[in-house]
Amino acid sequence: MSRSVLVTGGNRGIGLAIARAFADAGDKVAITYRSGEPPAGFLAVKCDITDPEQVEQAFKEVEEKHGAVEVLVANAGVTRDQLLLRMSEEDFTSVLDTNLTGTFRVVKRASKGMLRARRGRVVLISSVVGLLGSAGQANYAASKAGLVGFARSLARELGSRNITVNVVAPGFVDTDMTRVLSDEQRAGIVANVPLGRYAQPEEIAASVRFLASEEAAYITGAVVPVDGGLGMGH
Ligand code: NDP
Repeated sequence: MSRSVLVTGGNRGIGLAIARAFADAGDKVAITYRSGEPPAGFLAVKCDITDPEQVEQAFKEVEEKHGAVEVLVANAGVTRDQLLLRMSEEDFTSVLDTNLTGTFRVVKRASKGMLRARRGRVVLISSVVGLLGSAGQANYAASKAGLVGFARSLARELGSRNITVNVVAPGFVDTDMTRVLSDEQRAGIVANVPLGRYAQPEEIAASVRFLASEEAAYITGAVVPVDGGLGMGH
């Protein structure tokens, strides 16, 4: 069965690997992008998730071309690292606005169609950092921890309508987001990862696809770590 899938931030990094995984399985995949040339092979809709009007427009376009969204992957996210005393109000609120409130915007919009259809799959991309904390990332960690409470509340609210809401918490993944780290920082991170390496984006995508599958029908409100063992115990 070919489903209507929407991946926010599906134009690069983890989101693109997720979009490819669904497309390879035969789903109709839409991705959001903000600027530049989006990758070929998907329905690319322009959307900044901090803008409610762009979110509405993007959903309308997806609905027209692929039908109501049946699987939503809220993947778009940003970092703006800074130690607390140097972290401006803007550093904090802008990260929350994208990672947490932006996710709220797209999930709320997607839930309309899912409630009507009485089925749906929502997967949120959090981070090991949301559970472990990370010096210099108080804004990012707060946003990613917030996704867990958000998802679990929705799992309770939407479960009776056959809509599952789960969280994937990746560890360190080889993408643009982590390429800014120095070799020394990378080595320090890898030293704490039991599997001794970064993840490839495809390794995150595999868990997302599973949570959206029929086999995962009885899993909701779960936080699935895909972190090489980094966050064990949380
Ligand atoms: P990238 O920086 O490679 O990609 C981020 C994606 O999010 C891009 O597609 C970007 O779009 C999109 N995006 C950012 N802000 C907005 C916005 N306001 N509206 C719409 N789209 C937006 O990051 P990754 O692929 O590494 O990360 C993907 C997700 O995984 C994020 O939520 C991140 O926090 C999370 N994660 C990443 C980890 C890692 O180690 N890489 C570890 C744990 C979690 P554009 O191209 O327009 O900028």
